[in-house]
Parts: sequence; structure tokens; C-alpha cells
Amino acid sequence: MQDDVTNGEHSDGVTAALLRTANMQLRAQLATVLKEARVNEEKMRRFDQLERRVIGATSLAAVINTLLVDYRALFELDAVTLALVDPQYEVLHILGSPAAAGGTEETLLFLDDDRPLRTIYRQNSKPVLASTGDAPALLFVDGASQLKSVALLPLVHLGRFMGSLNLGSSNPARFKEADGTDFLERLAALVAVCLNNALATERLKLAGLTDTLTGVHNRRYFDSRCLEEVAAARRNGAPLVCVFLDVDRFKNLNDTLGHQAGDKVLSYVAKLIKLQLRGSDVVARYGGEEFVVLLPATPYAHGMDTAERIRRIVEGQSVPLAANEFTRVTISAGVAIMHRPPKSSDVSALAADLIARADKAMYEAKQAGRNRVVFSDSR
Ligand code: GH3
Ligand code: MG
Ligand code: MG
Repeated sequence: MQDDVTNGEHSDGVTAALLRTANMQLRAQLATVLKEARVNEEKMRRFDQLERRVIGATSLAAVINTLLVDYRALFELDAVTLALVDPQYEVLHILGSPAAAGGTEETLLFLDDDRPLRTIYRQNSKPVLASTGDAPALLFVDGASQLKSVALLPLVHLGRFMGSLNLGSSNPARFKEADGTDFLERLAALVAVCLNNALATERLKLAGLTDTLTGVHNRRYFDSRCLEEVAAARRNGAPLVCVFLDVDRFKNLNDTLGHQAGDKVLSYVAKLIKLQLRGSDVVARYGGEEFVVLLPATPYAHGMDTAERIRRIVEGQSVPLAANEFTRVTISAGVAIMHRPPKSSDVSALAADLIARADKAMYEAKQAGRNRVVFSDSR
């Protein structure tokens, strides 16, 4: 009896202890679940914030900046890089430089084709989580050695790889192969859509500012860019040269060889002009067979040389029209310069004056017999 009681007390004690242990385990489990829920909630909140920023970005540069700069800070990542398939250098052309989108040559990467991405993602186009040993060095050019885990997000549009968003952490547990990728898949889909939208908008903007026949800028672009360049030159005191170029006796050419041949000549002349210019120079088709060039930070002598070089090269080239069919053309050019105008002068008036002087000089070149460059003597 005694023993039974003792036994009973003993077994009660064991049960209580077991219950306490079970209770503690449950509490621990609950705490873990709650913690996970809080972490997820926090992740959701930040994700939501990022999503709003990406969707709200108004230009391609702003979308990329949000990914490279904001995302990295918001999610406390050690590295974020973006690789974009850009075989025609279109994105680079739109941005101007990686820095314009908050990137560097190490964080904003351009790929000539999608082959590296097809190798990384294979067929399934799902995010890849890996320890850095497996991370392609291609996507983390700089600092890959400090990273201990990475997540690579394929950016797919209409079934084709357009790029890869790559996240790196110095914490080996941050991205593990077995982890779920729901968040990341959703992010990748969102980023692909937003990048594509931004790209389409930039293309439209560009189309509105480009001359379809020759591929150089149009008059609308020139008018606004000219004001910018004049304002910059007035501010920094650097000389700004304007050159007007007009194809000689173009009406004749149209009448004898046809309008289509005329179009080919215009495209060809535009290319020849472009080839003589620096990246910072501006060339536009001003009207029918008339082009205009702006040379920022260019001394008078250099402006004259450039105009003369263009004239000589156009004169010396045979323009291909069809197989074994060529023609030759010449151009007349007028050059004017704006140098150190009074800081108080009106930008529109300065621009109009510069253009008028270059145009007048070009007209004088026509009067003097064509195929020549005339320099406006007033400065
Ligand atoms: P000048 O040496 O004095 O400049 O004589 P020009 O014949 O070149 O000048 P004019 O202004 O008399 O004629 C320009 C011609 O350019 C008239 C027009 O039909 C032609 N033209 C304008 N735009 C285009 C175009 O987009 N394509 C073609 N093929 N011709 C064009
Ligand atoms: Mg002409
Ligand atoms: Mg003309």
C-alpha cells in the first residue's frame, strides 16, 4: 500500500514533469512560429514597400536605382547586382552610364546574349539559392569572396531571359537551397514587368525624338537640347559651336534619280556626319535636307575643322544607291560660335541668335558657290 502510494506519487510526479516538458516544448514551438510569423510579416512589409517603389518608378533609371540601392538597404543585403541582356547597347544608350541608374560597372552588368542565364537557370526559370561556391562569378564581379550565400532571380519576359537580379549576403544561412522561393519568385516577376514597362516607355520617348529616316535626332529634340546646351555653356563659360549643313542641289538629285534615292542619300549623309562627332556632340535633322550639329565645349578653330572635315568626307564618298549604282553629293555648311555671353542674357534669345548666325553663314556658303564652309564672323 505504502509502495502503491509512493508509486502513485512517483508516477504523478513523472507525469507532471513530462507535462511540463511538453508544455515547454510547445511554448518554444509557439515562440518559433510566432517569431517566424513576425519575420514574415516584416518581410512582407518591406516587400510591399519595395513593390510600391518599383511600380512607382517613373523611368528606367529609377527602376534600376530602386533595385540596386533601395533594395539592398531595405533588405540589408551585402550585394545586389543586375545583369541585363542588352545586345544592341540599347539600355546603356538610354541610361547614358551605369551611374545614372545608381549602379557601377560591377553592379549593373550588360550581357551580349542570354546564354549565361540559360546555363544558370536551365529550363525551369526559378530563383536559384546557393552558397557562394556555386554562384557564378559572372554575376558578382566584385566582392563575391565576402558573400556566403546568394539568391539569383531570373527576369523573364514573354518566355525569354531579359536579365538576372542577384542578391548576395555574408550570412551563409540567408539563402539556402532548401528554402522556399515564393517571395523571390514574386519579386522576379514584378521586376521583369516593371523593367519591360520602363523600357517600352523609354523607347516611345526616344521614337518621338528621333528622325525615322536617318536615325539621328529630330528637330523637336534639337530645340530642347539646344536650350540645355546654351544654358550649360552660359553657366560654365565654355564655347558652344553650332553648324548648319545643307545638301547641295538636292532637288535636282530627287528629280533625276527619284525620291527613294534622295532618301538613301540623306541617311548616308547623316551617318557620315555622325561618324565625325564625339559622343557629347549633338546632331539632328533640322528639316528636309538640312542637318544641325552642336559641339559643346569646342573652341572656334576646332569647330571650323570639324565642319570642314564633314564637308570633305561627304564630297569624297560615293553614296551607294543600289547594286553597282552610286551617286555623289556635296554639302554647304555654316558655322557659328557662342562664347561667354553675359550671364544675365536670355537662354532662348541666345539659342535663337546662335542658330540664326549658323543658318546665315550656311546661306552665304550657298551664295558663294556651294560645297564650302563659311564661318559667321560675329561672335
Ligand atoms: P540648294 O543647293 O540651294 O540647297 O538647293 P536644293 O535643291 O538642295 O534646295 P531646295 O530647298 O530647293 O530643295 C530641297 C529639296 O529637298 C526639296 C525637297 O523635295 C527635298 N526633300 C525634303 N525632304 C526630303 C526627304 O525626306 N526625302 C527626299 N528624297 N527629299 C526631300
Ligand atoms: Mg539643299
Ligand atoms: Mg535646304
